[in-house]
Amino acid sequence: MHEYNFISISISSSILSSPIEYLKGVGPLRADLLKKELGIFTFEDLLNHFPLRHIDRTKIESIGNITPQTEYIQVAGTITGIEILGERRAKRMVAWLEDKTGIVELTWFQGIQWMQKILHEGSEYLVYGRTGFFNGRPQITHPEIELFTAELKSGKSFLEPVYPTTEKLKAKGLNARQLAKLTSALLPLISAKDVYENIPETVLQQLNLVNRFDAVTAIHFPKNAEEHEKALHRLKFEEFFMAQVRMGMLRGKRHRHSHGVVFEKVGGLFNSFYNNYLPFELTNAQKRVIKEIRSDTARPRQMNRLLQGDVGSGKTIVALLVMLIAADNGFQSCLMAPTEILAQQHYNNISKLLGDLPVRTALLTGSSKQSQRKVILENLSKGNIHILVGTHAVIEEAVQFNKLGLAVVDEQHRFGVAQRARLWEKAETPPHVLVMTATPIPRTLAMTAYGDLDYSIIDELPPGRQPIITVQRFETKRAAVMDFVKEEIAKGRQAFFVYPLIEESEKMSYENLMEGYEQVKTFFPEHLYSISMVHGKMPAEQKDVNMQRFKTGDTQILVGTTVIEVGIDIPNASVMVIESAEKFGLSQLHQLRGRVGRGSDKSYCILLSPYKLSNDARERLKIMCATNDGFVIAEKDLELRGPGEIEGTKQSGVLNFKLASIVNDKSLLELSKFYADQVLSNDEDLSKEENLRLNAFLISQKGKTLWSRIS
Ligand code: ADP
Ligand code: MG
Repeated sequence: MHEYNFISISISSSILSSPIEYLKGVGPLRADLLKKELGIFTFEDLLNHFPLRHIDRTKIESIGNITPQTEYIQVAGTITGIEILGERRAKRMVAWLEDKTGIVELTWFQGIQWMQKILHEGSEYLVYGRTGFFNGRPQITHPEIELFTAELKSGKSFLEPVYPTTEKLKAKGLNARQLAKLTSALLPLISAKDVYENIPETVLQQLNLVNRFDAVTAIHFPKNAEEHEKALHRLKFEEFFMAQVRMGMLRGKRHRHSHGVVFEKVGGLFNSFYNNYLPFELTNAQKRVIKEIRSDTARPRQMNRLLQGDVGSGKTIVALLVMLIAADNGFQSCLMAPTEILAQQHYNNISKLLGDLPVRTALLTGSSKQSQRKVILENLSKGNIHILVGTHAVIEEAVQFNKLGLAVVDEQHRFGVAQRARLWEKAETPPHVLVMTATPIPRTLAMTAYGDLDYSIIDELPPGRQPIITVQRFETKRAAVMDFVKEEIAKGRQAFFVYPLIEESEKMSYENLMEGYEQVKTFFPEHLYSISMVHGKMPAEQKDVNMQRFKTGDTQILVGTTVIEVGIDIPNASVMVIESAEKFGLSQLHQLRGRVGRGSDKSYCILLSPYKLSNDARERLKIMCATNDGFVIAEKDLELRGPGEIEGTKQSGVLNFKLASIVNDKSLLELSKFYADQVLSNDEDLSKEENLRLNAFLISQKGKTLWSRIS
């Protein structure tokens, strides 16, 4: 429950700010518990404690119909016996509920004293809960239970809310149904004026949304399923809409108030490179993105742009072209990569591409010699260097530029993305920032988590790419897989063997890798094959040497952990074998796979796994074999893992919507963005009459949500 308390609907009014102990049926003892267990301090907090689901009270089933397949059930009957069994920790209370069709056992391990007080043999009860089978007999543990009164029996059709609660609360007589009694005591006390509307009238009308008061009432006690649906729809929209307006305002503020350097012209360097040096035709997507960036950097405000593209979509060349525009305008650029080897690779690539153009470039990494470093730093501060390539760490240190106009951050993973982009806001005259992702980010995630950034998408691969052939093989077929790899090597190709990094234990990962290394050696004996290995425990220099040996073709096989994941470009490598592939996440598998298929030859990715797999793992491997499209994979990843599991999102809290889900309510999210943009385009700071309540609402939310923290 606590995890979705971040975004709460604030409804300021005197009655709603009343302390919860003043509500009938609460009192100081229960109030204490409600505060501790559910964070309910006021009437308003209780109003915002939404039900998990509703039970149709008219639907009472026969006990005889309970089967091992039954999940939740509502039954009614007479208690025919109560017993206390076991002792101390094994102590439990069992009661038997009987109707005309059968008997079900009800069991309590906690709150026994309380239950003993309220449960009477011979009385009729209405019972709801999750069923199980024990020794062939149906059983409900910790059911929701109450007297089956005449009123209930009359069978008036209504949906009863079931609230999230805790064992402690249940033990003190505050189970889901008793919480419902509290809300039903609360609702008559409040009226439409206490719950003001926070969505602008025009939006409400255009979308035909129910008003806020009706929605918060009906979310608790709907008359029917349709009314509940409408309330839910409105409240979900509200959550998304508020988030989008907030993001939009942040973005707008940055656009209006940030100052930035202006790249006035596209000059000689860009043009001669484009016309005479570019080794291929840009894809339409690349051209479009360059235009987007171009128009961003021509204005006197800081660009904060996220560039998304699949593995191999050609992000680097886009970065280079923009760096040339910076140089044309007398500004310096830096390009930051996550590893030394990648920085080196970028530097070599860029130097080669630029040929004899008068663009001065330099490489600065942790292993740059002190004397070299000094010269580079001096030239940087004098403005003699146009493009500095380096690792993230190196450039974040106090490197003094003469006139830094653009910072490009390459291969960022998910949440790193947002942090990097925001980093440079701290500088006094901030350079434009372009952050390039390692693999695509699902659109819904980008909209919610990075909504305050601008983003560009390269949604097209350069022509002529051969799709990587991906197959799944069980470990029992390892010998055949190795034979296949041998054939590829015999053709002059190279192969990767990747082992999972076991998060909980670096030691285990290491042992895993060593074992794997030995195993690879038994198939590829040292007198016939040369193998290099990289792993996280290795000193950086040794890692680079080993990687370099593979890159230059000195070794035929590279055995490693996911350190080889990021960005490394080895066109001659045509096979990647991923061991224990079921242990990897989807986007990681995709990123890894992107290391092959860079040349013109057919490439292969072989996913090794045990025979026994969880459903999720099986689904992941299936998706990998079915598609090479990183955007599709990113969406699937989000679907399978849920937004809470995506790295970094938990900490940031930005995806803690109470009712809405970025996985299940995609179209509502799009809609909310559309309307948020519309509202802001007419009234950027929400100062017009029709938006005052929205504005007030957002202000009242400050500090209550984590949104304020991430901006
Ligand atoms: P990523 O987006 O994964 O960083 P890179 O920028 O490394 O991809 O590009 C992958 C490869 O594609 C490089 O070898 C690059 O030279 C090449 N490339 C990029 N754009 C094009 C294009 N428009 N046509 C052909 N090849 C391209
Ligand atoms: Mg790249």
